[in-house]
Amino acid sequence: MAENFSEWLEKLKAKVDIAELISPYVSLQTKGSKKWACCPFHHEKTPSFCLYEQSQTYHCFGCGVGGDAITFIQEIEHTDFMGAVKIIADKYRMPIPDFSHNDKSAGLKKHKDKLFEMMRETANYFHSNLKSDAGKTAREYLAKRGISMQTATIFGMGYSLGRNQLVAYLASKGYSKENMQEAGLVDTTQSGGVVDTMAGRLIVPIINNIKQVVAFGGRVLDDSKPKYKNTRDTVLFNKSKEIFGQHSVKRLKLETAVKELIVVEGYMDVISLFQSGVKNAIASMGTSLTQDQAKLIKRYVDKVVICYDGDSAGQNATMRGLDILYNHGLDVRVVSLPDNLDPDEYVRKYGKDAYLKMLIEAKPLFEHKLFTLAKSYDLTSPQEKGKYAVEAMKIIKPLGDPAMIEAYIGYVAKLTGLPSDTLRRQLDVSEAVATVIKKETAKISMSAFDRAVRYVLYGLFGGVEGAVCEKDLSQYLEDKNQRTLYDLYRSNQENTLEELTSQEEDNPEVKAILDEGSKIGDEKALKYFEDCVARIIKEGEKKRRKELIKAFDNEKDEDAKLIMMSQIAQSNNKK
Ligand SMILES: [Zn+2]
Repeated sequence: MAENFSEWLEKLKAKVDIAELISPYVSLQTKGSKKWACCPFHHEKTPSFCLYEQSQTYHCFGCGVGGDAITFIQEIEHTDFMGAVKIIADKYRMPIPDFSHNDKSAGLKKHKDKLFEMMRETANYFHSNLKSDAGKTAREYLAKRGISMQTATIFGMGYSLGRNQLVAYLASKGYSKENMQEAGLVDTTQSGGVVDTMAGRLIVPIINNIKQVVAFGGRVLDDSKPKYKNTRDTVLFNKSKEIFGQHSVKRLKLETAVKELIVVEGYMDVISLFQSGVKNAIASMGTSLTQDQAKLIKRYVDKVVICYDGDSAGQNATMRGLDILYNHGLDVRVVSLPDNLDPDEYVRKYGKDAYLKMLIEAKPLFEHKLFTLAKSYDLTSPQEKGKYAVEAMKIIKPLGDPAMIEAYIGYVAKLTGLPSDTLRRQLDVSEAVATVIKKETAKISMSAFDRAVRYVLYGLFGGVEGAVCEKDLSQYLEDKNQRTLYDLYRSNQENTLEELTSQEEDNPEVKAILDEGSKIGDEKALKYFEDCVARIIKEGEKKRRKELIKAFDNEKDEDAKLIMMSQIAQSNNKK
């Protein structure tokens, strides 16, 4: 019998027992007719999280969260609606059928599921190697780095025996060479054969937010190069969209309140910090953070402490990434470890407590910027001091908040020995310009129409999952900058927020679009996007009708009037 998604979802919901689903995450106690628990979403010692079995819902009287089985999984696993449905469907063994009525996409989904299964089997295989006799060297290496087998197991670490073993193993499980190539597990040899890309390496699986293995990281056990290697980007893995260490953070959130995350560069830093007892670290797998990663991080916390290797902390790519985090509303702080040590080296050398002390002393983002900038100037020379002050004020100016500006003026004054008044005057000149720009921006942002256009652009550039718009909206867009971006979107098949951000310098709308995009939560994003499209069409058509009617009234030619009437009628139908 054919069924649609909502019918299928009802069947799934009917199978779910909310108490059973929730019990791995909280410890339920029966009191009276209801079940209670300490809330997994805020830290508490006496239970105020209540389960209503009749309606299959929950509510916390402490922090106000509430919902059904799906919202619970969304919140606790930090995933979106479909991510939660998939987790529940897996648990109750009800695979999600393909509802697209399209053989090609059904085939593709099945194919991807097969590749994910292969990745899972590969991870298990690598892990069993690590525990076997053949994994002795790798275990010795871990021991040398102070990582216990327990920690290695938590992160699902493994070991690749050599060039051919994995290939033979996967072939015995029925996977083809093409499957292995597609998932990035193998390199092709000159004779056309395939060999394990991670041959001889210590393996760390990279797991996405719905617990699928999407890629592997591999580290050599000796001094050969390259030291680290990642699976290349594949149909399963897009490095710019993943962060490493999500599942250990999820575990931690069940035990305690996690208010901030430490962002480090590499997975070995995360694992080493975890081993020493610092469990709230994630890795960006590179220093240039992306919009997607920032969004993901914002799902977990409002505050991050950046702790990169000494040599990359001040680089431009790093700074851009930090700005992206800041623009997503995160409180960003930056730690600079002494002597160019990376977090792994630091924590092994000085221990957990010393490391935590460093974190407490982390500098707010803008202080870090001013401090880093100062390194390029000789502040003992009066001329250089002046130059530094000019550049520093450029960093401070966009802050907008007078109290913050004052605080940073004080900071620069202290660093340079220049009087605060001089610095303030420096700022005033640019202040006048800033006020004009601000007034103009305010004028634009007044209109609900503009806000809708911005959100739609945000969605079309990949900001909203599943957002598509078949209709050509260009006829409704009057703002030149919005038109330019819309044309860019239409000229390009691979639209990403990255692409949009890259236009920021040339196009003043980009910032407004990103701001607009960050205002809507993920659950409501697609619905809101669709509402915005509808609003643009409705408002646009209204405007057009007005113009048509005006032109109609002024037109003398009867034939032309007839054509206009049909246009007005058509436009009426679209509202
Ligand atoms: Zn609560």
